[in-house]
Amino acid sequence: MKFTLEHVIGLETLTSIEAFSHIDSDLITGILDEAGRFASEILAPLSRDGDTIGSIRDDDGSVTTPPGYREAYERYVAAGWPAAAFPTDIGGGGLPWAIGLAVQEMATSADLAFSLCPMLTYGTNDLLMEHGSEEQRGTYLERLVTGEWAGTMVLTEPQAGSDLGAILTKATPADDGTWRVKGTKIFITWGEHDLTDNIVHLVLARTPDGPPGTKGISCFIVPKFLVNDDGSQGDRNDVTCVSLEHKLGIHASPTAVLAFGESGDGAVGYLVGEENRGMRYMFTMMNNARIAVGLQGLGLTERSYQQAAAYALERRQGHTMDGDRSEKAPIVRHPDVRRMLMLMRANVEAMRGVLYRNAMAIDLAHHHPDETVRNQEADLAAILTPISKAWASDLGVELTSLGLQVHGGAGYIEETGAAQLWRDSRIAPIYEGTNGIQAQDLAMRKLPLDGGNAMRRLLEAIAADAASLEGDLKPIGEQLTAAVEATAEVAIALGGWLAEGRFDDVLTGATPFLKMMGDTLGGWMLARGASAAAAKPDGYDEAFLADRLASASFYAEHVLPMVPAHRSSALAGAESVFEIEEARLA
Ligand SMILES: Cc1cc2nc3c(=O)[nH]c(=O)nc-3n(C[C@H](O)[C@H](O)[C@H](O)COP(=O)(O)OP(=O)(O)OC[C@H]3O[C@@H](n4cnc5c(N)ncnc54)[C@H](O)[C@@H]3O)c2cc1C
Repeated sequence: MKFTLEHVIGLETLTSIEAFSHIDSDLITGILDEAGRFASEILAPLSRDGDTIGSIRDDDGSVTTPPGYREAYERYVAAGWPAAAFPTDIGGGGLPWAIGLAVQEMATSADLAFSLCPMLTYGTNDLLMEHGSEEQRGTYLERLVTGEWAGTMVLTEPQAGSDLGAILTKATPADDGTWRVKGTKIFITWGEHDLTDNIVHLVLARTPDGPPGTKGISCFIVPKFLVNDDGSQGDRNDVTCVSLEHKLGIHASPTAVLAFGESGDGAVGYLVGEENRGMRYMFTMMNNARIAVGLQGLGLTERSYQQAAAYALERRQGHTMDGDRSEKAPIVRHPDVRRMLMLMRANVEAMRGVLYRNAMAIDLAHHHPDETVRNQEADLAAILTPISKAWASDLGVELTSLGLQVHGGAGYIEETGAAQLWRDSRIAPIYEGTNGIQAQDLAMRKLPLDGGNAMRRLLEAIAADAASLEGDLKPIGEQLTAAVEATAEVAIALGGWLAEGRFDDVLTGATPFLKMMGDTLGGWMLARGASAAAAKPDGYDEAFLADRLASASFYAEHVLPMVPAHRSSALAGAESVFEIEEARLA
């Protein structure tokens, strides 16, 4: 993680600016070591009970989390982890998001279900920091940032999933300037629980005069308990947990059906910002949330890899073709097992590079003194975010499945824990905007950013780095060049189709294009890591640096050549997709 921060994404671009000048290498080591200890000693042991016992709704609508969760959450808050990457003036630790993401990665690896509670709260914080009134920030923000209270994102309704324009929950103005919110929301992560005294729901609802569709949606704070003027806990608000969903994974994360205003005029709500701008506000915080969901693919793959590698070193089956036949070989010696492990390992390094770079782009877009850099980094973050979310979460499913495969039959048996990681990973391509919606965002909105120049700048930067690789690294450079050229060809073609209005053709190619972008960016990050390793920086032992070179070579041989192969699918257009008559599909 430290190597990725310092030598792959180039954290010094960030630490050389005023806002983060207090961060040095020792501080990063200290933070990562401490976070690692907390994640492995306190959080990781929770995840098995979290899976088998899960969170349970009691008859009175309250929710009890699995054993150990409350204590772990208390310690998490006491150690200051939730606040680490928020500004100091609101109770935060003042770290850049790029380092905060590394800390978050460890919590995600250790127990995804647990990590979702702080993750959702980060979303609430971001939205209130940006759009809350001074009074709202005073009442809620610091207690959310420190983790004393938890936040939720309350968007989905049965008829309104990807299409939030279909939301029906209503908010009507009350005489005292507050609002009354009435409606039913589904699938609300950590919508009810016993980890904190209060839960601050951010709810999307429609006001009486709002226009139809997404333009008529407003955002409301609806706390579980109202807050008195002196900050003390007030009356229980009319928000009820009607049920919890039974899910494939993340059983400890209570996914709630919430009824607002079930027993009266409505739950008391407070309008955030202006009426009808709720969707826009949600989008401002979605960048961080989307990266955090991509991080779930990375975090679960890392844990799955650690477990699979340890198993492969112990489990003995058969003989290697050219080795000693007098005793059974550990399965790690079979080329196919080693190939699976390397796919996991190299992709972990690739994902980590892309996601941390994405987070750093957000930091630089906010804090860099030069306006041009701020704008370019904002564009880069806009392009990378749907890729971080969709590419990494898809890889998470694929690679935790490989982790299970390394275990053979034992992987399919729940006791090993390999199956849980795979089950847990399956949600990440779905929530926070399905991966299909991310691909649409990349092709329709991000590709044309700044007249296509933002994409061009990114692909040119990759091509330039690829061309600069020489000596032992030349083969990596050649594969990366081929990948970026194929990706650029598709980007230009899809951009042209967009201009011609061939939307179905663009949308058919969007997912393969996103995959090409993700794998190419991953190759870029590994190439940067290989260059840095070849220069033998201080503080890393020879073996570690040699391993980085090996994983970059592996990725260049086994992953990058697949990038040009996606070109035909990305450029095939919609015709064959729609060839079979709709009525004949079922
Ligand atoms: C465990 C869990 C936790 C969740 N947590 C939260 C939460 O905390 N807060 C919250 O508000 N919601 C939450 N959700 C809801 C989640 O965000 C939605 O499930 C998701 O946005 C997809 O909506 P949907 O389920 O209605 O699927 P649909 O929108 O019906 O999509 C079905 C399929 O159609 C595709 N599709 C739909 N529209 C388009 C389109 N325009 N173009 C291309 N493809 C399209 C989708 O990609 C998908 O493959 C959660 C869901 C789950 C399962």
